[in-house]
Amino acid sequence: MIFVKDIIAAIEAFAPVQYQEGYDNSGLQVGDTQAAVTGVLLTLDVTDAVLDEAMQCGANMIVAHHPLIFSGLKRLTGRNYVERIVQKAIKNDIHIYAAHTNLDNVRAGVNAKIAEKLGLVNTEILSVMGGTLRKLHTYVPVAALDKVRDALFAAGAGEIGKYSECSFGTEGKGTFRAAADANPAIGVAGGAREQADEVKLEVLIEKHTESRVLKALFDSHPYEEVAYELVALENKNQQIGAGMVGYLPNPMDEMAFLAYLKERMAVSCIRYTALKGSDIRKAAICGGSGSFLLKDALAAGADVFITGDFKYHQFFDAEGRILIADIGHYESEQYTVEIFEAILNKKFPNFAVLVSKTNTNPVKYYC
Ligand SMILES: [Zn+2]
Repeated sequence: MIFVKDIIAAIEAFAPVQYQEGYDNSGLQVGDTQAAVTGVLLTLDVTDAVLDEAMQCGANMIVAHHPLIFSGLKRLTGRNYVERIVQKAIKNDIHIYAAHTNLDNVRAGVNAKIAEKLGLVNTEILSVMGGTLRKLHTYVPVAALDKVRDALFAAGAGEIGKYSECSFGTEGKGTFRAAADANPAIGVAGGAREQADEVKLEVLIEKHTESRVLKALFDSHPYEEVAYELVALENKNQQIGAGMVGYLPNPMDEMAFLAYLKERMAVSCIRYTALKGSDIRKAAICGGSGSFLLKDALAAGADVFITGDFKYHQFFDAEGRILIADIGHYESEQYTVEIFEAILNKKFPNFAVLVSKTNTNPVKYYC
């Protein structure tokens, strides 16, 4: 039996919810984490048609990229489509979950999928998120070092790029004096000052593993009071952030590139700025509304910036320095469901994971 919480855990192991933006509302929107799942329907947006589709195909959970509930709901009276869908989902025991900007911000997320469709190579995060790394220092008696270090590694500490179990230890002397009501691992309560051979152990931890790692520290460390410091780092984590930049395997002239983009992303039209008259080699991408990353795309030296939702005045900001190609919000993120599909099929083989056949794009084109 697979439960709602199992589906959520699989997705959040890939895209930890700690990496969503402050304005976002990713997570379980409607439903119960303890409920059994009969099938999952994957979609970009939750619409009434998607809800009907889920019920028709026997899937009682919808996993979406865009949250149905964004700002708070003050009442449920069916005044708008959000309230009506929430009411209908509750009546029909449908669970609705969304992984939004956390899926945008992980290295293998929304933008990696677009890069894959465009065949980009040597990709990097376009705007790396700050404040996601911490350094943990703790002081461990030598005899307990292996136990504590193993527990920290098992909880996810000490991972740096392609290396795991990274740590540094410095031997030294620790001192302490236990109060009369203490329960010391070394020495006696109310006794004289003790001196112990200890190792100062240092490990890097990522924001999403912090509570797990601290629990492992407290559970494995022999001291009643665990001495530790958790220090926020300025270091950038190259695995977390917005947008992506990468190279085409072979440069293309701009019109050939636009034709390639149209075909690869299955779009009916592209809005773009004046051609620069030079080849496209380096491409910046951002699924969804990416205009906030134009300055990063310019700083990265990208020849083209591919995203959606550019406004009229924002097109002027290209100033002949970059080709902006707006392929549409829906179009840029339409393959996002393939990420959910791969995660769930790998974790739960032989389980009903279905991709919605509903085109939820609210924008129509009259060409
Ligand atoms: Zn979006």
